[in-house]
Amino acid sequence: MCLSDFAVINVFMKFKHIIWDWNGTLWDDTWLCVEINNHMLERRGLPDTTLEIYRDKLCFPVDQYYCQLGFNYETDPYKILAEEFIAEYTERRYECPLHTGTRELIAEFQSLEIRQAVLSAYQHNTLMEAVEKFQLLEFFDDVIGLNDIYAAGKVENGLKYIASLNVNPTDVLFIGDTLHDFEVAEAMGVNCVLVAYGHNSRPRLEATGAPVFDNLAGVRKHVIG
Ligand SMILES: [Mg+2]
Repeated sequence: MCLSDFAVINVFMKFKHIIWDWNGTLWDDTWLCVEINNHMLERRGLPDTTLEIYRDKLCFPVDQYYCQLGFNYETDPYKILAEEFIAEYTERRYECPLHTGTRELIAEFQSLEIRQAVLSAYQHNTLMEAVEKFQLLEFFDDVIGLNDIYAAGKVENGLKYIASLNVNPTDVLFIGDTLHDFEVAEAMGVNCVLVAYGHNSRPRLEATGAPVFDNLAGVRKHVIG
């Protein structure tokens, strides 16, 4: 297949750009977050949580989530809880695999000349390290995490990114796993689909009105048909 064939294919694709969320969408780290939350609860003699409760309750900003699990901010300030979480997450994060079919799907999208990027609330250098570790860097035109120095949020980074692309937002698809991802996509004015195997439950995601899929095969069908 020559370059001109790719161009012909791309004309007929529903989306010319795909922007992926990272944690929970491509990287299977939800189970680890639940395990760490349970270690934090156990240390304080509080009852365990479950994957279902986590997906039902997790929200952004996260400080509104911990108090729902039973933590008392009077005795355990949010900052302490957050540091405790990050310490175990940082140590164990590479126990998490990519979700099934990640590499195959982004390779297929690349072969169809769909430009792809990662837009994440993960700290930029840490995000780059993970994307490189899984040898996925070659598939993405851009990888955008949060830069602690400027402390811009995912919405702000998304707005800057879409402005830099100089594309029609209707040609762009954002794929994420949380209500916050939907808010980011809305702010950017781009299409959005959500996956229900990550950090938020299917009913919460469906309430946005965006298409919701249980696996990447569903996402593939939506994009390629
Ligand atoms: Mg996510």
